[in-house]
Amino acid sequence: MTKFIFVTGGVASSLGKGILAASLGKLLQARGFKVTNQKMDPYVNVDSGTLNPYEHGECYVTVDGHECDLDLGHYERFLNVELHKCNNITTGRIYRNVIERERRGDFLGKTVQVIPHITDEIKRNIKAIASSDNYDFVITEIGGTVGDIESLPYIESVRQMKWELGTDCLCIHLTYVPFLAAAQELKTKPTQHSVKALQQEGVQPDIIILRTEHEISLDMKRKVALFCNVEADSVMQSVDASSIYRVPLNMQAEKLDEVVLRKTGFDLAKVPEADMKDWHCFLHKLESATEVVRITLVGKYVQLQDAYKSIRESLTHAAAYNHRKLVLNTVLSDTLTDDNVAEQLGGQHGIIVCPGFGNRGVEGKLTALRYARENNIPCLGICMGMQAMAIEFARNVLGYADANSTEFNELTTHNVVDMMEEQKALLNKGGTLRLGAYPCALKPGTLAFDIYQKPLIYERHRHRYEFNNKYRTEFEQAGMVCSGLNQESDLVEIIELPAHRFFIGVQFHPEYSSTVLRPHPLFVRFISESIK
Ligand code: GLN
Repeated sequence: MTKFIFVTGGVASSLGKGILAASLGKLLQARGFKVTNQKMDPYVNVDSGTLNPYEHGECYVTVDGHECDLDLGHYERFLNVELHKCNNITTGRIYRNVIERERRGDFLGKTVQVIPHITDEIKRNIKAIASSDNYDFVITEIGGTVGDIESLPYIESVRQMKWELGTDCLCIHLTYVPFLAAAQELKTKPTQHSVKALQQEGVQPDIIILRTEHEISLDMKRKVALFCNVEADSVMQSVDASSIYRVPLNMQAEKLDEVVLRKTGFDLAKVPEADMKDWHCFLHKLESATEVVRITLVGKYVQLQDAYKSIRESLTHAAAYNHRKLVLNTVLSDTLTDDNVAEQLGGQHGIIVCPGFGNRGVEGKLTALRYARENNIPCLGICMGMQAMAIEFARNVLGYADANSTEFNELTTHNVVDMMEEQKALLNKGGTLRLGAYPCALKPGTLAFDIYQKPLIYERHRHRYEFNNKYRTEFEQAGMVCSGLNQESDLVEIIELPAHRFFIGVQFHPEYSSTVLRPHPLFVRFISESIK
């Protein structure tokens, strides 16, 4: 029988529900259970594809090509598993499914309502995931904060599931305990109000986790327990951690996994302790490194921490495995020019040119690439970063001054990046992007082959434009090797400059598949070359 764990949030957003849910998933998995994490996003968008990175951080992509919330990235990185479309649901999708069924006549004669039709559809999506792979635990994070109008149907679904399933269903509520500097005091009142809001919607939390900047005393935990109707050992703290990768261990120290197991009816004497050896080992590498590696991200959303979340985390993993402390600088590509590039990028061990859509900041990316290429600085171009590598090479090595992608200039006479017929044929009906994992064959003897150590890899995509095959021979004659190809469509997936220390561009997104226990080889090699 699958156990359903819900994680809700109160008082404020951005408290780290995703990290908490991933940490609990990790701890249960480390005790031998089969666990999956799911995110419910209360917004009306059907998926995350059209959301602005400034508002929502990066758009994460699953192997099956779903554009989704970045919390799925945390789940995959922590649990070392691949998730799918069913692991992220939005209100838009729930309503779309219900409305489509209504049009088909599935509810003939009935008034279609939020309760029961929308809530039934929400519950169906939660239960479907459980039976899809016989999970012991499904941990479902409800986006937003309790009390929001848009999260009401989700909280109502939690209420119904708790009512239907009894102890097979738990609610963990994460709140914030502010520290008032003037009074030198931690305050639990917002937590009490938040729990009241949840209770008003019919849900009694089973476990309350207090997010805080300062240690919370036992007395304060007891007070929250008394006011909020939970057992004293079910009030836990989650103190600010030096790294998100500490959180599973902090929550283990708070006995989160133990309390969850007890409350869902397990005999603790029969369940093994969580085996976190590998995790400790990674954390030790991460925290003990003293020598630095300085990497710069060149992109157009660098002001926002979450915009390149997966790239940042992949670099964190790779630096740790190289026993280096990552010092990550960012350069807003819009501001980069020939006059300031040496000042901005000089002294960096390595440069990453980030993915992106649209014209803004492209010229700055080209400037960065030229600087990296001419000064032999290790450089990794990701998706648009690879396309920019092709454009820069065409302009400054092949001498095609107006070389461009038709995404930025439809009239360019040298469309080294363009929409390819082969690619159009591959696009799903109705879809406009090439999304999800595709195979890529690696050319023996190349850097790419040496990095992956195998002839065929699968990597995730999210783009429309492609390297233009018309230019392949010319590029190769001038020293740019096309080292990765999609054999079915003949599309170029990887380009590299063998004459350079490390200059490689990938049309896919390796950052989506780096995990704590399986750092991505491309990032690991990028860092190891950067520190040579
Ligand atoms: N804008 C480019 C394209 O659509 C690259 C997209 C990306 O970097 N994810 O092909």
